[in-house]
Amino acid sequence: MDILADYLASSRNAREQQLAAYLRFPSISSDPNCREALQECARFSAQLLQEAGLQEVTVWQTPGNPIVTASWRQAPGRPTVLIYGHYDVQPVDPLSLWISPPFAPRWQNERIFARGATDDKGQLLMHIQAVAALLHSNGSLPVNIIFLLEGEEEIGSPNLPAFLEAHRQELAADLAIVSDSSMWAEQHPAITTSLRGLVLLEVTLSGPNRDLHSGTYGGAVANPLEMLARLLASLKSDEGTVTIPGFYEHVLPVDATIRKQWQNLPFDENKYLETLGIDSTWGEAGYSLLERIWSRPTLEINGLWGGYNGPGGKTVLPATAHAKLSMRLVANQDPETMAELLQRHLLAITPSCVRIEVQRIAGGGHPVTIPLQWPPMQTARRVLEESFGHETLLVGEGASIPVVADFAKLLGVHTLLIGFGLPDANTHSPNESLHLPTFHTGIASLMALFKAL
Ligand SMILES: [Zn+2]
Repeated sequence: MDILADYLASSRNAREQQLAAYLRFPSISSDPNCREALQECARFSAQLLQEAGLQEVTVWQTPGNPIVTASWRQAPGRPTVLIYGHYDVQPVDPLSLWISPPFAPRWQNERIFARGATDDKGQLLMHIQAVAALLHSNGSLPVNIIFLLEGEEEIGSPNLPAFLEAHRQELAADLAIVSDSSMWAEQHPAITTSLRGLVLLEVTLSGPNRDLHSGTYGGAVANPLEMLARLLASLKSDEGTVTIPGFYEHVLPVDATIRKQWQNLPFDENKYLETLGIDSTWGEAGYSLLERIWSRPTLEINGLWGGYNGPGGKTVLPATAHAKLSMRLVANQDPETMAELLQRHLLAITPSCVRIEVQRIAGGGHPVTIPLQWPPMQTARRVLEESFGHETLLVGEGASIPVVADFAKLLGVHTLLIGFGLPDANTHSPNESLHLPTFHTGIASLMALFKAL
């Protein structure tokens, strides 16, 4: 254990530098200009796995960005753990809100600031560094390990399911671990037991065959922007309930034990408001804030545009109006069914003065629930508690990690969702950061978890 502690202490700076090097790749999967950066980032990921002492390191080309795998299978009789992470990142705009450039890592207040620091390069690197530490100090691992890294998580993993299906044999494992979520708070570890699913749609309303003069035609011809605003506003009641018939039909109520635990979570709503810079929350009546995020489906407008958006005014009655919508789903809602439900409803309520087109946007996934009684869940709870010195909280997650549903469906494994992000990590926002003390404690906790599984 001393060799291990020595290794961790003496390599601390080098390991943070390794993280910084990883964060320098602008691996934005939604940006076509970043294709080469993603290739380079995949090769760098492979190099990290190689240097950690893993074997069979392979960069697999796909129709999109590469998938990188590696393994170490010399612990007979011990479980095989499939570790998943993603090296692609979210876009960085609005760039003007970043204090320092998103791909030039900056250290400040025990944090490293860069796009991808928490989501997910920093968290996946914790697993690689935990394995590296064990292999460099002991020459062996207490479990068999398979790494699976992809570069398309932020665009809905279009090529991952086919890869999982084609490599079922090599990826066969007893459990999966994904670290792409958050702790409850600094020092308060959390395991996520449910994830919401996701469906994305784009709506276009068309009116006249060209933009019109709002003085000559205003009052006589329907304005697609106004009609779209009316349609969208009608999808929710004043109490925050989605009004689409059948929207809540398949929703499963939350397990009573879990609900009770959520009620006891130390949640400071004032701090939540302060962090977000808002004066009050808003959502479905009859549910607590956490219940709304973790166990209730929702409908959001992600983008809304049309008409004139330039400087000054323009008296236009626009020909078209557009919106991007998404639905977050919970167990047992099916993405296909829900997309059709919304589509049919919008078609049914659109007045004849405009035409509507609703299209599915690629991406999304099924909701997931992980059973509480699953033994690795109990082991992980205990180990994290010992490492961080506070009770491991069981939480839900409002966001989606489609791969977890795919692991269950295609590989037949449950996933331990152990997050090391902090709630104020600004993932998907400007000035994303990773809390370095959590990074280092987390690496030690993963080493302990591999032993205890
Ligand atoms: Zn992520």
